[in-house]
Amino acid sequence: MNADATPDWAAASPLLPGATLGVVGGGQLGRMFTLAAKVMGYRVVVLDPDPASPAGQLADTHLKADYRDAVALLRMGSLCQAVTTEFENVPAESMDMLARHCRVAPSAAALAVAQDRLAEKTHARASGCETAPFANIETAADLDAAWEQVGAPALLKTRRMGYDGKGQARVNSRGELAAAFARLGDVPCLLEGFLPLEREVSVVLARNGLDEIAFFPVAENRHRDGILDLSIVPARIPADLAERARDMAAHLAREMEYVGVMAVEFFVLKDGRIVFNEMAPRPHNSGHYTLDACATDQFQQQVRALCGLPLGDARLLSPVVMVNLLGDVWRPQPDWRALLGHAGVQLHLYGKAEARPGRKMGHYNCLAPTLDEALSIATETRAALGIGRD
Ligand code: AMP
Repeated sequence: MNADATPDWAAASPLLPGATLGVVGGGQLGRMFTLAAKVMGYRVVVLDPDPASPAGQLADTHLKADYRDAVALLRMGSLCQAVTTEFENVPAESMDMLARHCRVAPSAAALAVAQDRLAEKTHARASGCETAPFANIETAADLDAAWEQVGAPALLKTRRMGYDGKGQARVNSRGELAAAFARLGDVPCLLEGFLPLEREVSVVLARNGLDEIAFFPVAENRHRDGILDLSIVPARIPADLAERARDMAAHLAREMEYVGVMAVEFFVLKDGRIVFNEMAPRPHNSGHYTLDACATDQFQQQVRALCGLPLGDARLLSPVVMVNLLGDVWRPQPDWRALLGHAGVQLHLYGKAEARPGRKMGHYNCLAPTLDEALSIATETRAALGIGRD
């Protein structure tokens, strides 16, 4: 992308409190955006078909319609001065339609890169990031060449709509590759070399239309069954590696003329290399620690970036461990006294009525003077809530 992609409103006057902001998608990320915007004095319109959506509950206006609904999009465009999104799979046409009426960030072009693993990894490589070896598979006719190029051990991932480890399969032979490709539905995929991971880390940053960038500290992320389980901040990696991760994320954002909050996930390999995995064009679960541990949180940054305001101070005020709360521990719901009795624990629930295994219901942040103490609080409270017990 070139400078022509710079939104023409970038240098325009900022949208001040009192303006109406829109968010496409009413899940927990939209809810926390809504809260941040309301705290700052904005009005909020949410587009989400679910009448009970977490963000819709709090919005000034909840448009209960499909993301492609032309009438709802027109209404949103006429009510709002600026619109953002809380998920990457918003139809590009919808964002284009909105952009005819109001400021839209991130752009449809930036979303298109993040929607497709091939475009995303190609962009990352072009921006100078190392990635896992990968090969594109459009149809079964590409399997041989891809296997030849990548070989075992490998991961087959659908190019689109994969999240939380869904839409992917580990493959160790050409036979397993064919079976996995059929199982994933014969849809376009990437075959990726399976790398020896030491840790997974992420960088959440905000960039406004004036090319100001604010980085949150690098988070170290632990997953369970493909879903983020814990974020440990600051990440236990050497300072030069953290700086490299930040530089790569900033470079990616600038190359895309990105405006908004963006998360970039990296692998730290056993040999010390740092490798791009994927990016999210929105606030990220691994940035939820910022809600209690940073001077400005990722949702307030999203509001500021969208409105063309100066970005906030992203400094870490305390070591922190973020623990995700999935529906698995709702029986019918945890006894919160185990958490709330702890000084330094902050609970965030998303207002979802129905708990299902694997569904993100909330999270909590454990703050303490040292990271070891924060980790001890996380371990103790997780045990009390029954998290991680199989
Ligand atoms: P993704 O959906 O690409 O984020 O992948 C989900 C998880 O699978 C990651 O968080 C890693 O734990 C693991 N994973 C993904 N790609 C690779 C890879 N190329 N090598 C090793 N592990 C991977």
